[in-house]
Amino acid sequence: MKLPVLICPNCGKEMSYKEGRPETARKYESCIRRCESCGIGYSNTFPTLIYRHPIQNIPCEVQSYAKDVVDKALNEANCKNNKKWERFGFSTSEDALTWTFFVWLQNEGMIRKVLSPAGINGLQKIGEEPDMLLWGAPVPPLQDSRDSNIRREIEDISDKIGERKDYRSEPDVVLDFPEKLVVIEVNYLSGNRRIGNELAEGLNKPFVLVNLVMRKKSNNKDNESVQKF
Ligand SMILES: [Zn+2]
Repeated sequence: MKLPVLICPNCGKEMSYKEGRPETARKYESCIRRCESCGIGYSNTFPTLIYRHPIQNIPCEVQSYAKDVVDKALNEANCKNNKKWERFGFSTSEDALTWTFFVWLQNEGMIRKVLSPAGINGLQKIGEEPDMLLWGAPVPPLQDSRDSNIRREIEDISDKIGERKDYRSEPDVVLDFPEKLVVIEVNYLSGNRRIGNELAEGLNKPFVLVNLVMRKKSNNKDNESVQKF
């Protein structure tokens, strides 16, 4: 079966076509249609953009230490063989969207300001921005992730409920304010998932659990996000 020829959304040139049987593209190298000079390919089914270097899938303002944090996610099995990072390079990646949104808010010091109108009361009265963990890994990264109290707590709870050490559930986002935690489960294209109640209920601080549904504004490379809380 021959796939339709596509145009590179970055440079506008016709993409090269690698002959062969189209298999599920799990990374850039397995894309049949690619633009080698831009490092962008399309997946072999309903076309999803896949970047040769996953970092290209997020805006340059938020690129520092992204891979470092992704590699330290709690669910180690998911990180093995670069799997989580390679998926970060898909235009449909929920992780890339989550990263872009929250790291940008963090850089701008806007976390409290944006989350307050979303129904989480009292955040703007708090004097400073929270510490942040994405997928259980501190952002910005610490030398040792276990230097984060929350990370340690989540691991302990995960042990207590009998999860495999290399296959722990991970909350997408944890915002650590002095007196409460905001735990956020992000949904983009996926159905509604909830993180394990045991996990949230085992934490030492009171917490607010938020389900954040994201939509991209358009399919451009700027990853503009967010609409609906
Ligand atoms: Zn191109």
